[in-house]
Amino acid sequence: MRVWAHALIRMHLDDSWTFGFDNAKRRAGLCNYTNRRISLSRYLAARFSDDDNHQTLLHEVAHAVAGAAAGHGPEWKRIARDIGYVGGTTHHGETATELAPWVGTCPNGHTVYRHRRPTRASSCVTCARRFDPRFVFEWHRREITRADRLAAQAPRD
Ligand SMILES: [Zn+2]
Ligand SMILES: [Zn+2]
Repeated sequence: MRVWAHALIRMHLDDSWTFGFDNAKRRAGLCNYTNRRISLSRYLAARFSDDDNHQTLLHEVAHAVAGAAAGHGPEWKRIARDIGYVGGTTHHGETATELAPWVGTCPNGHTVYRHRRPTRASSCVTCARRFDPRFVFEWHRREITRADRLAAQAPRD
């Protein structure tokens, strides 16, 4: 992945750009214009297929080529398509509650998702605006399947 990323950056950008991994859990890739650095979440990259990681890289490289002002507008889209990106405008996994293993359920059946094991008792904000011991969440750890991961990374336009 690292080799492929460097090759991609060399092909489309100049020497000032670098590649690395970051620790994000909610978005798969990032284009940092300030540091001129494109990064992939090591957490999500390990769970996605090579093809999907390539797509995330293409999405971010297109951002780097298009410039920050382009956003996900027509210029970014044109560049992204040109370099082989086939996904949507959403950053993969950026709202992936599907990938959060901790599920909290309040006594009235409302559910919330967390990426880390909750350390303190919290109560349901739907049931009570302030902390209320009657509505504390009960936490369960669930298995995240490959199907869940694939569903979470499907582009949402
Ligand atoms: Zn984007
Ligand atoms: Zn509730």
